[in-house]
Amino acid sequence: MVSEKMLALGTTRSCIRELFEYGLRQAAVVGKENVYDFSIGNPSVPAPKEVNQALIDIVTQEDSVEIHGYTPAAGYMGVREAVADDLNQRYGTKIRPQNLFFTCGAAPALVSVVRALAVDGAEFVTVAPHFVEYRPFVECNGGKLVVVPADTEHFQIPFPQLEARLTSHTQAVIINSPNNPSGVIYTQETLRKLADLLEKKAGEYGHPIYIIADEPYRELVYDGNEVPFIPTLYRNTIVCYSYSKSLSLPGERIGYICVPDEAENSDQVFAAIAGAARAIGHVCPPSLLQRVVARCARLRPDIQAYDRNRTTLYEALTSYGYQCANANGAFYLFVKAPGGSSKAFSERAKAKNLLVVPGDDFGCPEFFRISTCVSHDMILRSLPVFQELAKEFADP
Ligand code: PLP
Repeated sequence: MVSEKMLALGTTRSCIRELFEYGLRQAAVVGKENVYDFSIGNPSVPAPKEVNQALIDIVTQEDSVEIHGYTPAAGYMGVREAVADDLNQRYGTKIRPQNLFFTCGAAPALVSVVRALAVDGAEFVTVAPHFVEYRPFVECNGGKLVVVPADTEHFQIPFPQLEARLTSHTQAVIINSPNNPSGVIYTQETLRKLADLLEKKAGEYGHPIYIIADEPYRELVYDGNEVPFIPTLYRNTIVCYSYSKSLSLPGERIGYICVPDEAENSDQVFAAIAGAARAIGHVCPPSLLQRVVARCARLRPDIQAYDRNRTTLYEALTSYGYQCANANGAFYLFVKAPGGSSKAFSERAKAKNLLVVPGDDFGCPEFFRISTCVSHDMILRSLPVFQELAKEFADP
């Protein structure tokens, strides 16, 4: 016998993976150059050369037993110090190395934080459009996911709808900015309003409501925009960070959780996170990668290629009549589906070998997602197909 819940999770694939795998099969039939695959968010920019150099230096210069050995569960002190220093320098905070718990990326970071806060009846609120995996992360780890419908005009937080969904069971609000799938950055004003609301509600309920800030795209921002560091606006913030996107290392699995001292019960929260990580089999983050991050903590990504892709697509698509969210970050465009149903649009596009992700699983069925971490050449080849589809939907 197996767990029905895990069986269901293991046998249903996300629509993103399904499209991606369809694309691979289709490429074998019609040729790779004739498939326009915008499905998956795999960085297309190589890891910075400093990362590769750090890897070489570490394996050739450092003690082999140590670099491949177990480390403390939260990471070795050198990497925690390097990252705390970098955060403090950038944001004027007073984060201590002891506030950082290194993980195998943002996914297990989120799961550990959710498990740590999942008291009986715990509710975790998130705002559509949201990362698809929040549902299994919350629902398989002792919580209930409550989704606030999207503000499809600006993709900020619709406050009346959020307020209506906060209850005495709300343990945390999970936010993701820059956002996957919309590419939108929450403004300082939005975050201040959120902080005020949660402070007020926490007072009413008599317990803190944490913000879980999911930030794998923190450094992927364009047009001189800035991403506010949420702990400076709201003390009860727990940050989940990843190097998957910023250093193009998604397969290497490295990231961290930050629980600043200012957060209520920070010591207990940190200890519960360590316990939750232990419960899901976390032993330590990859030792070699911790050493790379320690050397590269100040490195920022080169985002020119993503910016060029975003601009090319945005300009072309809007000129064909598509409406796109104003994406200033991450590497996605969120586009209103002509005809109103992103599923129907995605199916029609698929028939022309153009793969875009319907927004249903993101909680926003009228929009589809385009990943802009692809080759510029593929974007140029795909544009006539986007144009053709716009015409077909305008004139069915
Ligand atoms: N959160 C968001 C919003 C993401 O888009 C992703 C990955 O795409 C993750 C978390 C998980 O990232 P990681 O590779 O660090 O586990």
